[in-house]
Amino acid sequence: MPLTSKTAVVTGSTSGIGLAIARAFANQGCNLLINGLREVAAIEAERASIEKEFGVKVIYDRADMSKPEEIAAMIAHAQTTFGSVDILVNNAGIQFVSSIEDFPIEKWNQIIAINLSSAFHAMRAAIPGMKARGWGRIITTASAHSLVASPFKSAYVAAKHGVVGLTKAAALELATFGVTANCISPGYVWTPLVEKQIPDTMKARNMTREQVMHDVLLAAQPTKQFVTVEQVAALAVFLSSDAASQITGANISMDGGWTTA
Ligand code: NAD
Repeated sequence: MPLTSKTAVVTGSTSGIGLAIARAFANQGCNLLINGLREVAAIEAERASIEKEFGVKVIYDRADMSKPEEIAAMIAHAQTTFGSVDILVNNAGIQFVSSIEDFPIEKWNQIIAINLSSAFHAMRAAIPGMKARGWGRIITTASAHSLVASPFKSAYVAAKHGVVGLTKAAALELATFGVTANCISPGYVWTPLVEKQIPDTMKARNMTREQVMHDVLLAAQPTKQFVTVEQVAALAVFLSSDAASQITGANISMDGGWTTA
């Protein structure tokens, strides 16, 4: 079945991976709800340009992924506007780096809320409609950190391991309803966030740009290449196709071999 008549909600889609996923679904003819916390004018420009480029309808909802009631209202917003939420992409995420003993409690709570609990609240609101229509796709951007840990990223690692468990439970609950739930686990993805770290690291470590990319950022990634946002988005589109209807409860790595080592 083509995705033309479908509606996709992509959280954290005002930049990076989420924006690429939103654009990829628009390219498939999906109507979209985009979400995220960038400046309003920049988001409006992005929203209008996706509509124009792909000829689909795009709405924006500024729901804060740390607020359960705003997440439920966001799903309702898409359902009221488009009649359904067929594809839910839980993508919003943040990072904070600190040792466990110094980790600020509010940062821990915020990361668990945004990177883990928001997926539960969005699923909780979207699943009844998916079950009633007998079709749905739930895709969550996890991370290589859903499979392995790094020091000083305790909240992120815990949350990313957590969404994989949540996804497995959802997959089993939804298995007979035509609804699949899967995670995509990228390694290092080339996003503006990563790019911005390069000049500072060059200075701090007295390294060239190439050294920073190869020896620091890609130290854990055997291919020594970044994943691209378009590659992650293409997998999300594939997981929404009929060809992927028997893939459910999976956590698919796209990490240049990082987690095989
Ligand atoms: P990004 O910072 O470019 O995008 C994050 C998005 O989440 C933005 O749109 C931001 O506005 C939104 N967001 C943050 N807090 C929010 C909140 N409280 N409410 C609503 N939206 C909020 O980062 P990215 O690299 O594109 O990351 C997207 C996802 O991919 C995250 O879940 C991240 O953990 C995961 N990921 C990224 C990488 C990488 O290397 N970039 C690797 C593995 C996994």
